[in-house]
Amino acid sequence: MRYISTRGEAPILEFDEVLLAGLATDGGLYIPETWPHFPADEIRAMRGLSYADLAIRIMQPFLGGRIGEDEFAGLVRDAYAGFDHAAVVPLKQLDDNLWLMELFHGPTLAFKDVALQLLGRLFDHVLGRRGERITIVGATSGDTGSAAIEACRDREAIDIFILHPHGRVSDVQRRQMTTVPSANVHNIAIEGSFDDCQDMVKAMFGDPGFRQEMRLGAVNSINWARIMAQIVYYFRAALALGAPDRPVNFAVPTGNFGNVYAGYAAREMGLPISQFVIGSNRNDILTRFIETGAMEARGVEPSLSPSMDIQVSSNFERLLFDACDREGVAVKSAMTEFRETGRLTIPQGGMDAIQSLFEGHRLDDEQTLTAIKGEQEANGALLDPHSVIGVAAARAKNPDPAIPMVSMATAHPAKFPEAVERATGIRPQLPPRLADLFEREERYDVMANNLEGVMAHIRTRVGVKA
Ligand SMILES: *Cc1c(COP(=O)(O)O)cnc(C)c1O
Repeated sequence: MRYISTRGEAPILEFDEVLLAGLATDGGLYIPETWPHFPADEIRAMRGLSYADLAIRIMQPFLGGRIGEDEFAGLVRDAYAGFDHAAVVPLKQLDDNLWLMELFHGPTLAFKDVALQLLGRLFDHVLGRRGERITIVGATSGDTGSAAIEACRDREAIDIFILHPHGRVSDVQRRQMTTVPSANVHNIAIEGSFDDCQDMVKAMFGDPGFRQEMRLGAVNSINWARIMAQIVYYFRAALALGAPDRPVNFAVPTGNFGNVYAGYAAREMGLPISQFVIGSNRNDILTRFIETGAMEARGVEPSLSPSMDIQVSSNFERLLFDACDREGVAVKSAMTEFRETGRLTIPQGGMDAIQSLFEGHRLDDEQTLTAIKGEQEANGALLDPHSVIGVAAARAKNPDPAIPMVSMATAHPAKFPEAVERATGIRPQLPPRLADLFEREERYDVMANNLEGVMAHIRTRVGVKA
């Protein structure tokens, strides 16, 4: 198994190389050269496997022999042993033919753990074998930082520095990051905004000397291994509902398109998925695109579902590659045009294929609150403002009521308690593993919004077992 860039001009890489590379050198995203395909009888034989065993079976072909089978199995089992539900991603019935797959039983209560828990272990394994280290640097507005920290904590070959805007993330979000006692975890509260944090991270990556010296790396959502790990739960849900002998539909609250693209990959691998419904908040570039065929970027506006507040969906480029008949040149020119004009043009055939497979549905904040209340009253489910967008989209656009519909629940309600309480009057409780979050000791450095100062700080801390 080898990996090619969506823009066709970067070197073809093996799995371990793609893992560490992240973005391709031509600005594109890596994807498998060909999709592994599971025939129906092989899919049928996956029924009844534990989540970890299923994950090993589904992901094995993507490794191309670059990680030993037993070692990989060990990493996968270890990654999912830390989830606090025996099923890892339990499937719950909401309605006659509507199901909820809970992807939030990992350490930070959001779906990103499913991929990142494995990613951190894969990084550590590959780096350890090469005798290399890496410094992960990232900025967070609150939500993704903790998932990255939990993924990297206690990993031998990794230091992680997460910048957050001082005083501008919620207490739960800050504490999820700053109470991790591991020596390789470094939290920096910047006296500035999230944009200041992000600009600093960009500047560090843009400084070749610093980048080289610190061996900077990222665990962002365009990393192929994250998509790979997410494919598994689509198989899990579909198998539980009768695949491969019966089709399934999925509804997915969507931001950067990483989650739903993994579903698309599962379909390419032989899973009988007939439709995807994409849920978006007011930052609805994808929903508008599916409705009108025109992809047009606008400014980002804050919403009750901050993890879906995006201007453009970075992983969409992977789907675009297929819509352009897998022609890297065509993707490159489409993306260049998009950057210059803010408009993306897609070949008609590719657009038709996308519109026949994907539906979009948008909820503003008001509708999000109403939907949270509605679900709580109808079936007692407390849904967070991201997950409810999937469920509402599934109900609104349910393409064929005879086909089971699974909606992806991407965050635990206690991660967004204010919105849930506003909608229902019920304050969701943190699960037992985080119940003492407010008693734990915090550890972080407050620093001025000054690039040199932060870079000097990182230099002194890398590799130090504080
Ligand atoms: C990241 C995230 C999303 C969006 O997922 P994408 O893969 O970016 O589409 C949705 N909900 C929650 C809670 C998230 O953390």
